[in-house]
Amino acid sequence: GESMPRKSQTTPMMQQYQAIKDQYPDAFLFYRVGDFFELYNDDAIKGARILELKLTYRSKNTDRAIPMCGVPHHAVQAPIETLVDQGYKVALCEQVEDPRKAVGMVKREVTQLITPGTILDVKPGKATENNYLSAVLPTGKDYGFAYTDLSTGELKVSRLRNKFALQNELAALNTKEIVVPTDLDDQDAQWLGVDRLLSPQTVTAPSAEASYVSQDLEDPKEVQVVVMLMQYLLTTQKRSLAHIQKAVAYQPSQYLDMDMDARVNLDILKNSRTGRKADTLLAVVDQTKTAMGGRLLKQWLDRPLLDIKAINARQEQVQDLLDHYFERSELQQSLTQVYDLERLAGRVAYGNVNGRDLIQLQTSLDQIPSIQAILDQLDDGAFEKMRAQLDPVTDVADLIRRSIDPEAKLSITDGGVILAGYNQQLDTYRDTNRNGAKWMAELEAHEREITGIRTLKVNNTSAAGWFISVPNGSLDKVPEDRYERKMTLTNAERFTTPELKEKAALMLTAQESAAGLEYDLFQEIREQVKAQIARLQKLAALVASLDVLQGFATVSENNHYVRPQMATKGHDVAVHGGRHPVVEQVLGTQQYIPNDVIMDHDTDMLLITGPNMSGKSTYMRQFALIVIMAQAGCFVPADSAELPVFDQIFTRIGAADNLAQGQSTFMVEMMEADAALQHATASSLILFDEIGRGTATYDGMALAQAIIEYLHDHVHAKTLFSTHYHELTSLSDSLSKLQNVHVGAVEEKGTLVFLHKMLPGPADKSYGIHVAKLAGLPDSLLKRADTILQKLEANGANSAEVAAQPVAPEPQPVAQVAEPEAQLSLFEPEPVKPKVSAVEKKLRNFDLMTATPMDAMNLLYDLQKQL
Ligand code: ADP
Repeated sequence: GESMPRKSQTTPMMQQYQAIKDQYPDAFLFYRVGDFFELYNDDAIKGARILELKLTYRSKNTDRAIPMCGVPHHAVQAPIETLVDQGYKVALCEQVEDPRKAVGMVKREVTQLITPGTILDVKPGKATENNYLSAVLPTGKDYGFAYTDLSTGELKVSRLRNKFALQNELAALNTKEIVVPTDLDDQDAQWLGVDRLLSPQTVTAPSAEASYVSQDLEDPKEVQVVVMLMQYLLTTQKRSLAHIQKAVAYQPSQYLDMDMDARVNLDILKNSRTGRKADTLLAVVDQTKTAMGGRLLKQWLDRPLLDIKAINARQEQVQDLLDHYFERSELQQSLTQVYDLERLAGRVAYGNVNGRDLIQLQTSLDQIPSIQAILDQLDDGAFEKMRAQLDPVTDVADLIRRSIDPEAKLSITDGGVILAGYNQQLDTYRDTNRNGAKWMAELEAHEREITGIRTLKVNNTSAAGWFISVPNGSLDKVPEDRYERKMTLTNAERFTTPELKEKAALMLTAQESAAGLEYDLFQEIREQVKAQIARLQKLAALVASLDVLQGFATVSENNHYVRPQMATKGHDVAVHGGRHPVVEQVLGTQQYIPNDVIMDHDTDMLLITGPNMSGKSTYMRQFALIVIMAQAGCFVPADSAELPVFDQIFTRIGAADNLAQGQSTFMVEMMEADAALQHATASSLILFDEIGRGTATYDGMALAQAIIEYLHDHVHAKTLFSTHYHELTSLSDSLSKLQNVHVGAVEEKGTLVFLHKMLPGPADKSYGIHVAKLAGLPDSLLKRADTILQKLEANGANSAEVAAQPVAPEPQPVAQVAEPEAQLSLFEPEPVKPKVSAVEKKLRNFDLMTATPMDAMNLLYDLQKQL
């Protein structure tokens, strides 16, 4: 390294540092000095705090002290990850020439910019997670959108119709960094940047990046957004990105569309309520054996299919694997030995592959022939196409088998990576070394004999090379004529001889040549593997699918799922004995009460009534999860299921539990209801749980009813609507495609037990009073409540509208019926008593402080006239 300058900030090194730092103002600059990476100035102050490093100063005792902290170069990975994890960028600045050979300042360059969207090193436990980097290009009316995973090479592009679609996509991908055009407007920047890093990139004419744009990409905005994304990647990564595949255009509308609320509330990949990983659909159905399979499963669950042929094809394959138990367990056996082919291919392309990675690649490839044989045994046509496409890439496996030592060290510069027999020249160098070592051993024996010094040794160290060592006690026996003194230590002397020198020089040359040659050979092998990346990626994709499919078969068998029948036309639903896949696991299959969901041609909507905690939302979620599982290609938790292919799922679940959050929650609730009302089709599924509960009783009930009517008359989507407004159940009289169902309950030893069983028809009206009775309220009071209820019902029956007092199922019936008149009046068609209002108005406007007694008399006269 170089000596630490003491004088001032304007040393040549600090000048170089500043020049580089100026190019990366928004990144932590890790600046290599000898064996350390150092941070200076603000980077050091902030970095030391985040990374818990000791903050010191360069030129400490001058007035130009520079804050500084550092980490050893071999331990740089962890701090980089920490910073990037927290959403920062890190620029890695290396010495790009040998300091010993440098004239003046050592040349330094930023060799890589590591950002949240481009971090490559995958932490253990995160292997099954994709790390997506997205790019957004507003076009004025919609958004060009692209995303890639640098570690796997996936690259996709689309046009998203509006902010909501974009928001949905960004959330679904869990993207942590977004490349945006430099002229992005502030408003877009603000909402895009929430929780994410925005990386501006100038959009220029495509050049090198164009190679990532495939021929069939015609939309100029799509081309542009891909180019923008790739320009950012190429400038930050500064290396080959051969493994990034050509951009594939996709339409979010190719997949079952779920709004954000659905993704969150159905606990598909995450459970936001319990936070436990086990409480998710993903955890329940994940029986994959490979990291690639794990990632693909997430994509399948996140993006269920719409194409019935493709859905059936997957289910067919699951059936086939289900029917072949032994083949399936063999397949699992093989899959457990397949490493992350996708990411290995990425590392090969990236140039940071080591010997061990190649061995993993070979081990993985070695499994493919047996996987192929297993596919051959699955008889029917389900796997024909896969079988035809399965390319075991044996040439690469053979190359690695012949060339790379399975015991290879991690670092390619340590030598010993290339197997004997692969390269003759390398073998010769190694022989020279081996023979040399043998020759040295013989020399030792020989010299001991002729000098009579039994403690004489022939040894070597990396610093001193080979020498003869004689302990001080035997120095008198040294043949001074032949031995030449090399070095004096405290208790021994080192000597050399002309022939030893000659042999040692020969060995050193051989050793250096071997190391150089090994390095070259390794690069050559890597290039050869790199040339086959596209094939490896194809294979990886195929193995990943196979893994997800066998996982589906396994979980379907373990949990007794059945193959759903997908209807080619119509929207009829018939699920018998359906279960919630996650709750069923938590409660145990014995405890879980299966339920039917039957919606034939004449039923679009189930209105679900029942008290809190009786299982209404579980029932709704259960159905949505069955739909998602079916369209992802999995079997479903039911005795039997006939399903249409749904195009979208809209949900409004959960906000009812956040009543206390008030207005804003209600606003969200209404916005989500609006999204469903506007975008749902007759092929959609809508789940509305306690809609309208976030506002005052009548307000909410009125809205709920209006929404139901609108959905029923205009949307025709299959809808599950739960409510505690019992009054709404009478809607079945006027709405022909609405059916009531309710949660059954029985009284058992003085308490009410919910059966969690859905039954036809509305819930028992006097449920609230029933609970009050169980709670021990006085008999006379209960009788009175019953009378009030009947009166209210009679009133409601007279009205054209549903306007009866809600007898809420919550156990507070007395409080609920306390002010019937006041609440009822709200439902009358016209504004109430306008005369009273006028009187009131006059009274309010009358200024007592300035009025004379005569004025007061006049006012009274006026008012009386108006009565
Ligand atoms: P609601 O939406 O009516 O308030 P939930 O759907 O939240 O009720 O269900 C309340 C609890 O009842 C759940 O946490 C679950 O433990 C239990 N539960 C719901 N459905 C079932 C069922 N089908 N079988 C067994 N237990 C159930």
